Amino acid sequence: MTTYVPVIGLEVHVQLKTATKLFCGDSTAFGAEPNTNVCPVCLGLPGALPVLNETAMELAARAGYGLNCVVHETSVFARKNYFYPDLPKGYQITQFDRPIATDGYLDAPIAANGDEARVRIRRIHAEEDAGKSLHDRLTGRTAVDLNRAGVPLIEIVTEPDLKSAAHARAFLTRLKQILQYLDVSDCDMEKGSLRVDANVSIHEEGSFELGTKTEIKNMNSFANVERAILFEIERQIQIVSTGGRIVQETLLWDAARNEARPMRSKEESHDYRYFPEPDLPPAVLPVEWLERVRAALPELPQARARRFREAYALPAYDAEVLTADRGVADYYESVAAEVDPKAASNWIMTDVLSTLNDRGWTIDQFPVRPARLAELIRLVLDGVISNTIARQVFARLLTSDLSPRRIVEEEGLVQVRDTGRIEQWVAEVIDANPAEVERIRNGEAKLIGFLMGQVMKKSGGKADPRLATDLLRQRIGA
Ligand SMILES: [Zn+2]
Repeated sequence: MTTYVPVIGLEVHVQLKTATKLFCGDSTAFGAEPNTNVCPVCLGLPGALPVLNETAMELAARAGYGLNCVVHETSVFARKNYFYPDLPKGYQITQFDRPIATDGYLDAPIAANGDEARVRIRRIHAEEDAGKSLHDRLTGRTAVDLNRAGVPLIEIVTEPDLKSAAHARAFLTRLKQILQYLDVSDCDMEKGSLRVDANVSIHEEGSFELGTKTEIKNMNSFANVERAILFEIERQIQIVSTGGRIVQETLLWDAARNEARPMRSKEESHDYRYFPEPDLPPAVLPVEWLERVRAALPELPQARARRFREAYALPAYDAEVLTADRGVADYYESVAAEVDPKAASNWIMTDVLSTLNDRGWTIDQFPVRPARLAELIRLVLDGVISNTIARQVFARLLTSDLSPRRIVEEEGLVQVRDTGRIEQWVAEVIDANPAEVERIRNGEAKLIGFLMGQVMKKSGGKADPRLATDLLRQRIGA
């Protein structure tokens, strides 16, 4: 049986985090009233001249360095001509043969054991976004919102180095982390600030003859990118292995139906008639300016994870989870500066991250700032409160401004170490569970845990667990 090998390349459009558009002073804010953030430049009115946004070029250069590219002193903007209702100028200003950055790479996990494979980045170019057509199914009308026209993007183009659909997803996950660390983009796929197109072809194993490739668009999550690529690989294998031929075409992913369908060919343009943008001089970035951008790069997630393993003696898994988001990593470091780093990691990886997840918060929206979490953890480590009580206090911190210590004092939650009181709870539990006590005496040691749970419950979580366990064992004689 013939084995087929997929060849996958990605094109990723990323909206740059600037306050204003690429060639005019209009706001890039998402969600404004349609057609309010527009001016003669982005409306393409005659005589209006573009002026390049320096911050956008800085962010593009930063992305280039973060992805190990050569960032070029001189890049050239070009007109890409095509007609589309949401492109009022009749052309898009982009970069063609002289992009801002080329020849980078990013390593991405390819197997569960952590093995990585290198994905070369062919180029990164800066360009403006188009507007947005809004189709109303009820009335059959289409309206155009030009707020997005002229918003700065970079397009990141990889070599066809991705080995599988899962590899593509892992690459995108890492790419997004890096772009967020670099503060280049919010990478919010729902708002369209990160969009992925995939090129897929297959060839016979051992053959150097490349197959015809197709392009898949319209995938709105990394999970959908993975599904769409898998679907397309399967579809191509099906065609080729039954003697058919692959047609070069653009496919649209339909997540609801879990399939990719050809775009109507009318929607495809082929000849863009690129030529250098006559209204803009070449973008020249002085060497010293580029050096400043490079020198100001933050520590990137992989380097940070390595440092977390070494400096805080964290397991690889903890380091990976804690550095996935730059804000969470900063938060962790603030807490770990004050208390035992492993205890800080345990709290953040469980209680903090699951709270963020449940409530849909980012770490910046999380109301318990690092100093308060550190104080709570210290109360546990110092034996003032039990873990059970600490979780109650944690829940209170979400809605209260009080310090953990105040909450513990006001609500009388301090751990009980008074042997007399604990003995009383132990005695009550033993009286109430004669069968279990008998089984423990006959060797079922596991049941001690069950009785301990009862003691803790009786004490409202306040009994010192170590003392309680000792007393329980003594009384049962286990
Ligand atoms: Zn404008």
